[in-house]
Formats: sequence, C-alpha cells, structure tokens
Amino acid sequence: MDEGQIVEEARTWYRASWDPTLTVGEWFQRMYESGWGYPTWPERWGGKGLPTSMAKLVRAERRAVGALGPPSGIGPTLLAPMLFKHGTDEQCDRFLRGLAYRGDTTCQMLSEPDAGSDLAASRTAAVRDGEEWRITGTKVWTSNAAIVTYGMLLARTNWDVPKHRGLSFFLCPAQQPGVQPRPLKQMNGRAEFNLVHFDEAIVADADLLGGEGEGWPVTRTFLTYEKNSFNPAAHEGGPFGPVDLTMEAGELARRMADGTANPARGNRGVGRALTALVHDFDRADDPHVRQDMAVLHTRRAIMGYTNLRMRASSVPGLEGPISKLTVSDITRLQRDVGLGVQGAAGTLLGDDAPSAGFQEFALSSPATSIAGGTDQIQRNHLAEKVLGLPREPGSEQDRPFSQLPHGASTWG
Ligand SMILES: Cc1cc2nc3c(=O)[nH]c(=O)nc-3n(C[C@H](O)[C@H](O)[C@H](O)COP(=O)(O)OP(=O)(O)OC[C@H]3O[C@@H](n4cnc5c(N)ncnc54)[C@H](O)[C@@H]3O)c2cc1C
Repeated sequence: MDEGQIVEEARTWYRASWDPTLTVGEWFQRMYESGWGYPTWPERWGGKGLPTSMAKLVRAERRAVGALGPPSGIGPTLLAPMLFKHGTDEQCDRFLRGLAYRGDTTCQMLSEPDAGSDLAASRTAAVRDGEEWRITGTKVWTSNAAIVTYGMLLARTNWDVPKHRGLSFFLCPAQQPGVQPRPLKQMNGRAEFNLVHFDEAIVADADLLGGEGEGWPVTRTFLTYEKNSFNPAAHEGGPFGPVDLTMEAGELARRMADGTANPARGNRGVGRALTALVHDFDRADDPHVRQDMAVLHTRRAIMGYTNLRMRASSVPGLEGPISKLTVSDITRLQRDVGLGVQGAAGTLLGDDAPSAGFQEFALSSPATSIAGGTDQIQRNHLAEKVLGLPREPGSEQDRPFSQLPHGASTWG
C-alpha cells in the first residue's frame, strides 16, 4: 500500500470510528483491535506493520478528527518492542492488551546502588520457587514505582557464571507487599524517583521475559529502544501514566488538548520561555547572547535531521545516542543562557521567579545527561560502534560473578 492509500484508510477509519461518548477503555480497545492505534506494531499484535515514518501521517488523521490518542509512555514505546522480540505469544497477547487498553503501566527496575552504568553488575536476586520466583534486593532511581502496574526488572538468577550470563528479566507486579518503594526528594522539589526494596517479592514464572539466563540480550533490546522513548515523536500522543478508563473518551481528549491532563513537563516550551527571558531582560541585542541563541538554533536543527533519520528506520540505531547527547548539550546551553540573562534573579524560585517554568527546568537539567545512560556511556558506545575503538580491557568477562569484588553502597 502506498502512502496515499494508508492516509485514506486511516482517515476513513478515524472519521467512522471516533465516538467521544465511549469510555476511554472502550475507545482504546477499539483502536487496538483495528490496528490504527499503534500502526507500527505488527498486524497480529494490534498494529498495521507500518514503518515509523508513516505513523506520523496516521497520527495527523487522528488529530484531524479530534480523537484521543492511545496510551503513551515507556509501555508502548519500550516494553512493546521488547515483547515483540523476546516475548512468547501468550506474553505478547496479555501484556500488549494490558498496555493498549486495560490501563497497565510500567516502570524500569534496572539501576541499583552499585550498578547503574554497569547494569550487568546487578545484585538483586531472583530465586525459583516452584512456578514462581522470589525477588530480594534493592533498585534505585526507579521512576514511578509507586504508581505503576509492574516493573521491568533485571535480576540475578545465577551467581556462578560470568556476570552477563547469570541475569534474567522479569515483568514484576509493582503493587505487592514484597515491593516497597521509598520516594527520593529531588532538588526540583518533586519526588518521582524511588529507592525500591524487594523482600521476597513474587513474580510468576509466566512473567519471565526471554527465558532464564537470557536477561542480558533482553536488556540490550531495552537499551536500544530506551533512548527512542525520550523522543516525543516516538509517543502516539495519548495520556502518559495511569488513567481513568471509565471516563468519557471525549472528556479526556478535551483535557489532553487544553493541557489539564498530563501537563507538559521537562523541556517542552523551554525554547519559548528562553526567548521571552532574553527579551524581558533586554538582552536581545547582546552579541554573546545572540551567538548562544544561534548555536542553540543550529543544534536544534541538526537534531531535527537526526530525528528524521531515526524515524526513517524501524529499529533505532546509532542516531539514538547522538540525539541523546545533543539533547544534553542543548539542555545545558539553554539553562546557562537562561540563568545568565537573568543574573541574580536566576536564583529565585516559584512565584518570585521571572519564569517559574524555566527555573524548574534549570533545576531539572542535570537529569538529561544521566537518565537512560550518561553522556559518557553514550560516547563510549559511539567510540566502539562508530569509530571502531577497542573496548575497555576487563578481567570480568570470564570470571564467575560471585568471585568479582563489589563496592560498598551507602544506600539504606
Ligand atoms: C531522571 C532520571 C530518571 C531515571 N529513571 C530510572 C528508572 O526509572 N529506572 C532505573 O532503573 N534507573 C533510572 N535512572 C538511573 C540512571 O539510569 C542511572 O543514574 C545512570 O544509568 C547512571 O548510573 P549511576 O547513577 O549508577 O552512575 P554510575 O554508573 O555510578 O556513574 C557515575 C559516573 O561515572 C561515569 N562512568 C561510569 N562508567 C563509566 C565508563 N565505563 N566510562 C566512562 N564513564 C563512566 C558516569 O558517566 C557517571 O558520570 C534514572 C536517572 C535519572 C537521572
């Protein structure tokens, strides 16, 4: 089918099928069963098997009729491709329907106090107990652990083999007594992260993804798609996070459109806020500020082209790390220019600040170069994969994990 036919089909379907009086759950299910909600998903799993570049066209048809988009977030953008690659048919059917229309949400339970960049050093233990696994250990920086349905959990199931080979990947129910999230207060005033203690938490064997000891290949798929999940264009445009499935779909669409559901956070709108600050503080003619604004404009344009390349391929490639590094650079420069033009007023917060939104962005800015793999790790990746530089030497590859030294953590 060519582009024109796809657009025509999507238009016809959305015009005939969008009904704002359906509940959110009914509308999500209708989209899943038609394949038009997530058109890049395979046809047998609620999609149309279309290339990523076409998803944008379908989205435009949905927006044109004012229809609510399907759930966004790391479930559809990150877990779904992991399921396509590593899940059994039963897992794909159950988890994809859960994400698409039953209100399931997920989080990442990978980083640990002594294993962040080096995820293969995870020490959270999973021990088989009949048809279940018992999980014991600690994860950290776990965003949204207190509110999601289940976490994507990396755990060690074998301590007597080299570190990459003793790992398994689970979809662990997050709301159970054995999973205890403790919120961590951030310097921007919010508390989205958690330190999560697992004390004999239970996961069914049916929720082991990729098989016992196959946790590292699954994690590599996770890492491939994770960077993509930072790209706003990768999301279908519906609500992030838990949602009331019994609400009228039209009502949620209206709230999404006016910004009262899922208020924009992160870097959205920062460019406009920065331009306003430059004018408000009368610095638009300052040659240094003009030079910085020109650099920002150029980097954003380059990133736009990189994102187009990323969207043109169905599997995220090395554009992911490049794009992530560029976002880190842009974020730092925006923060520095914005705080610089404000001078002493840049230290104010909340209602006292010239731009409360910008100040919150500035306080949140370090997260960009850490979350989803630090800048240094992205550069290592590019050095090895693009420049062909040798990997760092290590004696860890062949030794059983139980024989490796490990750092003493200061986390409680
Ligand atoms: C906003 C945000 C959200 C997050 N959400 C989650 C989440 O939901 N779930 C989750 O599991 N984790 C999450 N994280 C954790 C994040 O993935 C880790 O913080 C990150 O991978 C770095 O790990 P670390 O903090 O242990 O630092 P470390 O790995 O200890 O690194 C410390 C420093 O050493 C450098 N370094 C480490 N190894 C190398 C190397 N080989 N070469 C060069 N430099 C190196 C790093 O770049 C860094 O500067 C989140 C983090 C942030 C900021």
